[in-house]
Amino acid sequence: MALRGVRVHITGIVQGVGFRPFVYGLADRLELKGWVCNTSAGVDIEVDGTQKELETFIDSLQVETPPLSRIDTFLVDWVPANGFSTFEIVHSESKSGDFIPISPDVSICQDCMSELLDPNDRRYRYPFINCTNCGPRFTIIKDIPYDRPKTTMGAFEMCPACQAEYDDPLDRRFHAQPVACPDCGPHVWLESLKDKTQGVLHQDSAIQLARESLAAGRILAIKGLGGFHLACDATNQQAVDELRQRKLRVDKPFALMMPNLEVALEHCFVTPAEQEQLLSRQRPIVLLKKRPGSPIAGMVAPNQSTLGVMLPYTPLHYLLLEPETGSPDSLVMTSGNLSEEPIATGNEEARQRLADLADEFLLHNRDIHIRCDDSVLRVLDFESRDNPPDKSSLTSFQYPLRRARGYAPNPVQLQWDMPPLLAAGPELKNTFCLTRGQYAFISHHIGDLENYETLQAFEEGISHYERLFRIQPQAIAYDLHPDYLATRYALERAQNKSLPSIGVQHHHAHLASCLAENQHPGDRQVIGLILDGTGYGEDGAVWGGEILLGDYRQYERLYHLAYVPLPGGDLSIREPWRTALAHLHRAGLGWEPDLFPVSYAEELKTPEWDALDILKQQIESGVNSPQTSSMGRLFDAVAALLGVRQAVNYQAQAAIELEFLVDQSEINVYPFEVHEQVLDPAPMLAAILNDLRAGAPVPVIAARFHNTIADLMQRICIQIRSETKIDEVALSGGVWQNMTLLNKTVSKLHEHGFIAYLHHQVPANDGGISLGQAAVALHKLKL
Ligand SMILES: [Zn+2]
Ligand SMILES: [Zn+2]
Repeated sequence: MALRGVRVHITGIVQGVGFRPFVYGLADRLELKGWVCNTSAGVDIEVDGTQKELETFIDSLQVETPPLSRIDTFLVDWVPANGFSTFEIVHSESKSGDFIPISPDVSICQDCMSELLDPNDRRYRYPFINCTNCGPRFTIIKDIPYDRPKTTMGAFEMCPACQAEYDDPLDRRFHAQPVACPDCGPHVWLESLKDKTQGVLHQDSAIQLARESLAAGRILAIKGLGGFHLACDATNQQAVDELRQRKLRVDKPFALMMPNLEVALEHCFVTPAEQEQLLSRQRPIVLLKKRPGSPIAGMVAPNQSTLGVMLPYTPLHYLLLEPETGSPDSLVMTSGNLSEEPIATGNEEARQRLADLADEFLLHNRDIHIRCDDSVLRVLDFESRDNPPDKSSLTSFQYPLRRARGYAPNPVQLQWDMPPLLAAGPELKNTFCLTRGQYAFISHHIGDLENYETLQAFEEGISHYERLFRIQPQAIAYDLHPDYLATRYALERAQNKSLPSIGVQHHHAHLASCLAENQHPGDRQVIGLILDGTGYGEDGAVWGGEILLGDYRQYERLYHLAYVPLPGGDLSIREPWRTALAHLHRAGLGWEPDLFPVSYAEELKTPEWDALDILKQQIESGVNSPQTSSMGRLFDAVAALLGVRQAVNYQAQAAIELEFLVDQSEINVYPFEVHEQVLDPAPMLAAILNDLRAGAPVPVIAARFHNTIADLMQRICIQIRSETKIDEVALSGGVWQNMTLLNKTVSKLHEHGFIAYLHHQVPANDGGISLGQAAVALHKLKL
C-alpha cells in the first residue's frame, strides 16, 4: 500500500504534561515511524503511514490526549512519505522570546494514588509522589523552558531509579520535572516552636503526630502546594474559636477539607454537578448547602447556609486525612496568614509570621516559588445555556468566586490577536492580566492591595508572568480610581517606560470582562446589568448600580441607582446602619426609634457624641459623604433595616446574611420607581417599613426585596429592548455572587427571551476586572 506522510502542528498546553510520550506511545501502538518535537509554540509531529493509519493517528491525537493538556489549535499538512525507519522524540532548543502556556498545579492522579497506597510500590506512602499527569507545576516554576533545573525541584538530584523513569518515553514519568522518591526527593517533618523538647519528627511519624495533634484540638501550620494552611479539627468548637482569635478573623467563613465525597455528603447536600467540581483535578473549594445537624462547628461559617468544602489534592493531604488513623474527619484549612496579609509560602517566613498562630508546623523542603491560594467557586443551579461551549476546562455550571490554584495561569482564550498589554486590575480582590496572541493570562488571586505585603506580591507576580510568558507590555490599562495602588503602579510604570496608558471605568471593565470570556465579538452593543459594591465613576461619585449599554470600545450609562450620600465614607461600608439611614433620609422617611438602625445609633450615643446628630450633619453638609449609586450598599441598607446586621466584619457580610434568610417560596414584589435615568428605591423602602411595622416575617421581606431587584432588572431590559431591539444582557459585578438574585433574574430574562451572558471563567466580582480592562484597552488604543 502507498505510504504518505503527515505533519501536525499543535498549540496549547502541550508541554510538561506528557504530550510527547503520548505521541510516542500512539505511534508505537500504530507502528508508525517519524518524530515528535517541542517547538517554540507547541508540538510538531511528522509520521509516515498509509492513508488509513494516518487518519486513525490524527483522530487519536485529538481524543486520547493526556489529561492536563489543552489543544488550542491543530493543523494538519499532508506531505510525501519521508522514509523514516524509527519513531523518535527529537530534542529542541527554545529560542529567546518563545513562550508556551504553563499547566496549573493539579491534584494527585488515580495512578499515583494507587501507588501511594500500594505497600509493594517504592513510593508507598511517599507524600510527594507525582507524574506527568499530576502534581505541582505553576507554583514550582521559576523560569522557562520548563525543565527541572528551572523549577524548585532543581535542588534534588534524581536517583538512578527516578532517572530511568524520567528518560523512558513509555514511562508515566517521562520528563515529569517534579519526579521524586523517598530516596532522592523532598521530605516532610513536624516541628514545634513552642515545645522544643518535642524535637523534629520525619515522614510517617511526623504525619501520625500531626493527626494526633489535630485530633487533640491543636492548630497546625501545614505547608501545601501554593502556600501554608492553618488547620484544626472542624468539629471542635473550641479549636475553631481559638483559631479565629489567633488569626484576628471574626465571622468570615473558613474553608474545610474533607477526606472524600462520602464525608462531604454527610455534612452537605451535594448535587451531581457539585460532585463533579469537588472531584475535578483542579480541586477548588466548592460552596455547598450545609445539612442541618452536621457536627461541623457553627463558628466555621457563622450565619451562612453554605460551607466551603474541598477534597484533598496532594498526597500529603490524603495521608493526613486518611480514615481510621485517628485523624479528625473534617479539617478547617484556612489560608496561613494573619487577617488580610498574603499567605505564607517559605519555611522560615512561616516560622516567623505564623509563630503565634500555630502550635506545630508540618513542613517540607520543596520550595514554593509562587504563592497561589485555593480557588473558590459555586455551581449554578441552572445550566447557563447562553454561554457558548467553552474551550477551557471550565463548564457552564461553574461560577468562580476566586480564581487561583488549579486554574491560574491557564489563559482565557480570546478571539482577537492581542498586542502585549498589561491590565493592572482593581484594588480589592486584585488580579492582573497580561496578554499575548490570543491569550489573556489572568493572574491568580492576589488579594486586597491594602498593605505592603500584598502590593509586593502584586509587583512580583507581574514580573514573574512577564518572564514566564515573555511579555513586554506595550500599553497599560488601569482603573480610574486615582488612589488605587494598582492604578498608581500602572501610571508610574507607563511614565517610566513611556508607554501609552488608558484608564478604564470600573463597571465598563466588568461589562467587557463578561463579554470577553463569553467570546462576544463586540460588533454590537449589549445591555450590561452591572450590580456592584464600589467603583469610581466618571463623575467622581461611587458607582455600583449601573445599567449600561455598550461594547468593548464604549458605553452609555442608561440608568443608575439614585445617588445617596455615604456618611463617613468608607466607614459606612463597614457600618450598614449609616447607609440605611442615608437611604431613609433621601426617601423622606423618618428616623423613627422603632427602626433597627436608629436604635443601634442611639445605643452608640455618649454625652459627647450623638451618632444620629453627626450623621444628619454629614448627610446635609456633604462633608465626608461621597455620593453613591451602589447596589451593594442598597443591600446593606435593607439588611440593616431588617435588623440583620448594623456592622460587618468582612466584605458583603450583611448582604450574604440577608440572602441566607430569604423565604424561597415568597413571590411578591415591592414598587420601585424609574424616572428618567434614575432607579429610585424610595417606594420600596416605604413598603419595607410598612411590612416591618405590620409584623411581616423578615424572611418574607428579604425575599420580596430580592424579587423586587430581579423584577426591576427585567423591566429595565424590556424597556431598553423596546427602544433598541437589543436582547443580549451581560450580568457582572460582585452583587451577582448572590445566587438567589442571580437565579431569579436569569430565569426572568430567559422567560422574556433575552440572552444572558454570565461569568464562568473569571469571577463576576472585581477578580474579573483585569480581563475587561485589557479588552477595552485593545479596542480603544487601536494598537
Ligand atoms: Zn500522577
Ligand atoms: Zn528517586
